[in-house]
Amino acid sequence: MSAVESPTTPRNGTSHGVHLPIYMDNHATTPMDPRVLDAMMPYFTKIFGNAASRNHSFGWEAEQAVEQAREQIAKLIGATAKEIIFTSGATESNNLAIKGIAEMYKERGNHIITQVTEHKAVLDTCKRLEKSGCRVTYLPVDAEGRIDMEDLKRAMEEKTILVSIMFANNEIGVIQPMEEIGKLCRERGVLFHTDAVQAVGKVPVDVNALNIDVLSLSGHKIYGPKGVGALYVRRRNPRVQISAQIDGGGHERGMRSGTLNVAGIVGLGKACELCREELPMEAERLRKMRDRLKARLESKLDHIHVNGTMEHHLPGNLNMSFVYVEGESLLMGINDIAVSSGSACTSATLEPSYVLKALGLGDDVAHSSIRFGLGRFNTEAEVDYVADKVIDVVQKLRELSPLYEMVKEGIDLTKIQWEAH
Ligand SMILES: *Cc1c(COP(=O)(O)O)cnc(C)c1O
Repeated sequence: MSAVESPTTPRNGTSHGVHLPIYMDNHATTPMDPRVLDAMMPYFTKIFGNAASRNHSFGWEAEQAVEQAREQIAKLIGATAKEIIFTSGATESNNLAIKGIAEMYKERGNHIITQVTEHKAVLDTCKRLEKSGCRVTYLPVDAEGRIDMEDLKRAMEEKTILVSIMFANNEIGVIQPMEEIGKLCRERGVLFHTDAVQAVGKVPVDVNALNIDVLSLSGHKIYGPKGVGALYVRRRNPRVQISAQIDGGGHERGMRSGTLNVAGIVGLGKACELCREELPMEAERLRKMRDRLKARLESKLDHIHVNGTMEHHLPGNLNMSFVYVEGESLLMGINDIAVSSGSACTSATLEPSYVLKALGLGDDVAHSSIRFGLGRFNTEAEVDYVADKVIDVVQKLRELSPLYEMVKEGIDLTKIQWEAH
């Protein structure tokens, strides 16, 4: 158990030791750790200065708090404080990194390499750059969710200036071969950016060991506040330059203007400090709970499978497909549990997840997939409740499923000639 009381669990839990609804969607966002809130509180009222005010103590105090946060963030990823640029979150960090590098290095080249299961903040940024003269290669992933290093080598060319590959995927929790990518990029003199939102604070991240040049992270995925993030920008070997995308007072070494969100930054710093101190213990605890959930589901249900390799995987993630179950009915049946499904709500239509489709899953299997995102405040009792509930609902839905009935009788569904309508 975590030493800290969960902000999502009131004292009057039910007799089963869980309070409903259960939050198990920690890849979407995390509740703020109460210790982070404590650290932030004074900066809303008492210590309210503008960190850019150089003429009085109000400004100096705010600046001091910001510099401490910079140290805390840098320490978590093996960087130095001067290499941390504050932003409004990882969406902005990804935009700043990719657009800023494309603009700064346009004399050298216009080719960018990324991959198909990136977050939309990377994919849509690349798509926009394609409209203004950049060429982008979107590498495929294998059935396990990882890129092939040979594909990356083949994609690199004279005009390649940037490789942007996420550290860990937000849907399937799969970790990309960061060390190999970093090594290759360094050898070829190509900059390496990574969207590390899901990895930072969850698994060890060291920008020097991995040859990462630019890295995006976000507060609200690591028990910090929403609306604050950071971009690590390497200062030595090589010194990376980035064109500002927001102009103004020249804050953040001219890379990102705007009065700093001091309270948010203090919170992000504290969140990083807590992650660093507790990472080994917390990762172990989450891994155990995740494996317990997986084992329990697999012991009672057939025709279910894990999406993404378990070998290179975030400790708190489990993405599973429940075949022969209708996705929406499944979600409805477990509506006292907050999880994500394999359907992405884009403009009111229910699209199957592009990440799961990239692994080769069919639309219906993607729809009947669930992402369990375990976090700091989940308990073993919650895991057991979730497992039992999912088992119950899946079994009930399958009792109503003619397809599942046929499979049970040994009929090969792929050999059936369905009547055309
Ligand atoms: C959440 C997330 C983002 C966006 O971060 P925000 O701070 O919410 O803008 C980007 N990339 C990944 C992988 C994420 O999970």
